[in-house]
Amino acid sequence: MKVVRKEERVVSLDMDEDPRRKDRELALDNRKLLDENGVTAIDVMGSIGSGKTSFLMQVARRLKGRSRMLAIAGDLTTTIDAERIIEAGMETLQINTGRMCHLDSVIVRKALEELDLEELDLLFIENVGNLICPAGFPLGSHKRMVVISVTEGPFMVVKHPYMFMDAHVVLVNKVDLAEAMMVDPAALERDVHYLKPGLPVIRTDCVRGRGIDEAIEALGI
Ligand code: MG
Ligand code: ZN
Repeated sequence: MKVVRKEERVVSLDMDEDPRRKDRELALDNRKLLDENGVTAIDVMGSIGSGKTSFLMQVARRLKGRSRMLAIAGDLTTTIDAERIIEAGMETLQINTGRMCHLDSVIVRKALEELDLEELDLLFIENVGNLICPAGFPLGSHKRMVVISVTEGPFMVVKHPYMFMDAHVVLVNKVDLAEAMMVDPAALERDVHYLKPGLPVIRTDCVRGRGIDEAIEALGI
């Protein structure tokens, strides 16, 4: 990629050469590795505090004994999420990303090489809490799920369009707090469908377990 200056004050990027090409190729390679081992991978994305970990804890309790599951938990520096998921009964591999605000296909590849994939049916990849850059970094997962919560306000969907255009399932979480937050879950759902008609949008309360069965069904797991 090179910077081309036109006239005095306009700078445009020459995007002939795609800097993300290698990343996308490795994502496809990750997918191939998962498929060869019969593993379905789901990327779980959303802001910090939206409910990604709480969702995985509910899934752990519900699918225990039915599927062989493991979660990869991405986090800048802590192991809080990994400990919570393990406590709920799902094996977890923690990845501390340091200063990196998203997972990429290289990091996921390293994690996959650590795992005994033949022993797994389902792999959840809890991305770093962030609704912006994970959209541009495919990991090789089969499905991408986005978790937003009503406590994040009414503009979470319209301000993060790329995230939702790439998603397969959306959770609108903490619906028990919708009235107090004066955020209408139906309006969030309309925003999602404006970007991607037909995308399944499930209203959840991941702490108490509302909507989890529907989410599991929508993910097809
Ligand atoms: Mg979490
Ligand atoms: Zn990032």
